[in-house]
Formats: sequence, structure tokens, C-alpha cells
Amino acid sequence: FPFKAKVQVKLKPPAQIDTSVAHPARRYDYWLGGKDNFAADRKSADAIEARFPGMRAGIRANRDVLRRMTEFLTAEAGIRQFLDIGTGLPTVDNTHEVAQRIAPESRVLYVDNDPLVMAHARALLTSSSEGFTDYIEADLRQPEAILAAARDRDRLNLSEPVALMLIAVLHFIPPGKGQAQAIVRQLVNELPAGSYVAATHFTVDFMPPEEKIRYQQLLDAGISDIWPRDEAAFSAPFGGLDLVDPGITLVNQWRRGAGADDIDPSRISVRGAVWRKP
Ligand code: SAH
Repeated sequence: FPFKAKVQVKLKPPAQIDTSVAHPARRYDYWLGGKDNFAADRKSADAIEARFPGMRAGIRANRDVLRRMTEFLTAEAGIRQFLDIGTGLPTVDNTHEVAQRIAPESRVLYVDNDPLVMAHARALLTSSSEGFTDYIEADLRQPEAILAAARDRDRLNLSEPVALMLIAVLHFIPPGKGQAQAIVRQLVNELPAGSYVAATHFTVDFMPPEEKIRYQQLLDAGISDIWPRDEAAFSAPFGGLDLVDPGITLVNQWRRGAGADDIDPSRISVRGAVWRKP
């Protein structure tokens, strides 16, 4: 999330939860309209919103597309297993709630590297009795550890199709060195044909020039660790997979009826797509 202290700084488990300092996950919760946030989080979120007025709309549209993608994957693609990396704090319509509303037997393994999410994970472990949910603390940059945890105790059955959910998480992987590509390849290689990948990603492509410059300054100063990618860089890791209709769109436009997508694209700044492994 933007405005973390330094690029690639790993958050240390908080000895105790300090409500006097803004926290990225709680700020995200505030923008979504959740309850797990405090005055410092709201103050910081409002200050960011004043500089980047698209923040809240983009985050809400992203959360909305997570729901629509999960509905598509469950209802139309017949997926019953989800590997949700970069889960975030539990909020309304967590992946397992959306999937299990349609197919109660759905299994969801949640993965995040933020200890604060672990502290709230109980809310993610409210599976239907027919289905299954579990949470592990792990890093996207260690796909082998994630795959091992998925196989462990048959949390997921990797010989049956899985939907890999990479919703608003790949942009934490810095550009260059093909790192994002290597991570996605490693994960997708272990999934059987008929599996899906759903991904969303921050972009500055629609921002007015002065906002783009301001954002670049935040990156240069190490204040933001969210790396924007253009459409080609976003889709590069998914080469060899089949793009599902309607392709790569701004998240507010993905599988929406006409008229539902009238927000100025610079106010959204997040692209999304779903791919199928042939
Ligand atoms: N997928 C949710 C939450 C997105 S917020 C949604 O779209 O609504 C991004 C989440 O990714 C945060 O909870 C953050 O802790 C997590 N994250 C960031 N970098 C990560 C990494 N390298 N490995 C695992 N999780 C990561």
C-alpha cells in the first residue's frame, strides 16, 4: 500500500497494536467503509485522498471486482478451490463468503505476509461446513512455500482446477529482473489445465500528468511501494494463458452492464483480468 516507510520493508509483528499511528491495512479498511480503523488511520487516509482523489473509488472498484471475479469463477467457470494471495484484512464479501454462497463446498486458502492480517484471520476461517478455509502467513515472493502449504494436509487438491487470486498484490513486486513473471510462472506451473488466474494491478496510465509526476516522486523517495505497470507489463507474466472475456479492463468495467462504468478512468487506476490455463 502507498506511503509505507520504505520499499520492501517487511512489517514486523507489532508487539501491541498501536492505534495512534496510521496502518496501511486499517487505512484500506477505512476506504472500504469497514470498522477496523482508528482516528489516525482515518486522518492519514483523508490526507492521501486529498492528494490522490481517485484512491477511494479505485480501492472500492477493486474490491467489487474481486467479488465479481469470484462469482464468475464459481458460478460460470465451475471453480471450487481458491488460492487467494494478498488477502488483506477481512471485510465484507471475503473470497470464501462469495464462493460459498454459490457453492458451499468451495475451499479457500488465504495467504498474506502482514502479521496484522493474521491477527484478524479468525474472520476468514468461518467456512461453511461443506467447504474449507485456512489462512497462512507467507510471502508471494516465496511461491514454493505457498505451494507446499497448499499441498500440506490437502488444503487444496492441486490435481483439480484452482483459481489463483492475485488481487491488488502483484504491484508490490518491483519492476525489472522479471521477478513478477517468475513468481506467476512458478505458481501457474503447478496448477492443472482448466485452472484460472484472476489479477488486478495499479496503473498511473490514466492519471493527469501532474499527478503522475507526484506519484513518481513518492516512488523515488521510497515513500510508496506500489509499483504501477502499463497494460503490457501487467499482462506479461500471463503469457501462454487464455484471456477470458472481456479481456484486460479497468476494474470498474470488468463484466459490468452499460452505464455502470461511467467513472473517470483516472479515478480508478486499477486494471484487472482473468486468464484460463489451457
Ligand atoms: N486482495 C485484497 C487485499 C488487497 S491489499 C483486495 O483486493 O481487496 C494488498 C494485500 O497484499 C495486503 O494485505 C498486503 O499485506 C498483501 N501483500 C503485500 N505484499 C505481499 C507479499 N509480498 N506477499 C504476500 N502478501 C502481500
